[in-house]
This record gives sequence, structure tokens and C-alpha cells, in this order.
Amino acid sequence: MKLSNKAIIVLGPPGSGKGTQAELLASKFGFFQWETSSIIGRIISQAKKGDFVVIQGKKYYFSEQAKIREKGLLWDSNFVFHLTKKRIEEIAREGKGIVLSGSPRTLDEGKSLIPLLKRLYGVKSLSIIFLKLTPKETLWRNSHRRECELATHSILYNKETEKLTKCPLDGSKLVSRKDDNAKTIKLRLQEFEKKTAPLLDLFKKQGVKLSIIKGEQPVANVFKDILKALK
Ligand SMILES: [Zn+2]
Repeated sequence: MKLSNKAIIVLGPPGSGKGTQAELLASKFGFFQWETSSIIGRIISQAKKGDFVVIQGKKYYFSEQAKIREKGLLWDSNFVFHLTKKRIEEIAREGKGIVLSGSPRTLDEGKSLIPLLKRLYGVKSLSIIFLKLTPKETLWRNSHRRECELATHSILYNKETEKLTKCPLDGSKLVSRKDDNAKTIKLRLQEFEKKTAPLLDLFKKQGVKLSIIKGEQPVANVFKDILKALK
């Protein structure tokens, strides 16, 4: 199967394995793997002292945005979209396909991101993959999730990974995530439910192809289903 110049968005609740599937898709097709927070985070950390961008007449300093994140708050959404747009336009101009995981997260983000991808790739080349998990499965997976000490790679909990004690990517020890207690997981899940439902309606309104995949299957089977959905 040849998929050139396509944009694929992989969404799903926390623990659905969207990052893993996005990585598999990106390496299979040679696409750029887009993960908003890590890419924007890198751009912010590389900015020089006093650097800013002007968006609709307002100055946004990179240093201020860095402080916002240190406090555990979200970056300004205008600022994030400004940087996202610039970088995604460059990727599309290079003729490269793109796989996004975990974005858009909110209706507002979707209202700017979907038209951008439609304009750059065309509506027929844009696919949304939604990995569905039952709330019970989401809770189970998140309360058993671990990450590695070295690079905080997130390790999903399933039959293939339950016996792992070391990170398959860098060999460092696997530990539980600090923020993975039942209460925060439930909150994260509620937040996801509240913000995702309106997004699914938006995709329909925008005429974008949406495929719902059973996320509780083993990683390889989820991937097979995604490939089928992309045909
Ligand atoms: Zn690791």
C-alpha cells in the first residue's frame, strides 16, 4: 500500500495506545510524527532570550510561555496554533505526510487544525482514527501504566508488556507514573469524554473520514485494523 502525502490523526482516551500507533504509522510510511506538546516544547526551549512572536497584534514571549508550562498550566492556544501552523505548513511543503497523535484535544483546537490540514492535504487525504476503549479498560490500563526512568517513555500495560522490567528503547528501569492515581485518572478520563464528544461531531460536519477502531486489542491487531481503515 502506498500512502503519500497523507494526514492521519490518531485520537483516543489516555492509555489507548495512540502514541504507539502513530509511531508505527509514521515509520511504516515515512511520515512526520507530530505530537504537539513535545514539538512546541522543543521550539520553546530552543528560543533565545527575548524571542517573541506577534499574533493578531499581541506579543507572545517564549520565556513567558515556558513559565506557564513550569506552573503546570496550558500554553496559550493562539501561541500554540501559530507555531503549529508554521511547522505543519513546512512539513506539507516538503511533500511529507504527517501523523498526529493526541491533537486536536479541544473543540477550539479542532476548529483551527482541521481546516489547516484540509487546506494543506485535501479532505480526501485526511483520516481520523479513533481508538475506542471502555471506561473500565481505560482505568485499568492507566492505573498499571509505567514509564522509564531515563526518557519517560510511556509503557502501555498489556499482555506483551506486563513482564517487562526495563525500557525496550533505552534499557532504563520502569517505574509507575507519579500522576497515575485513581483520582487523577478519573479526572483525566472525564475531561477527555467532555472534550472529545463535540470533536467527533465537528469531524462529521467538516466531512472528514472518521474510523473507530477497537483499542483493547493487542497492538499489532489495532495496527492491522488501522491499515484496513486507511485503504
Ligand atoms: Zn525509555
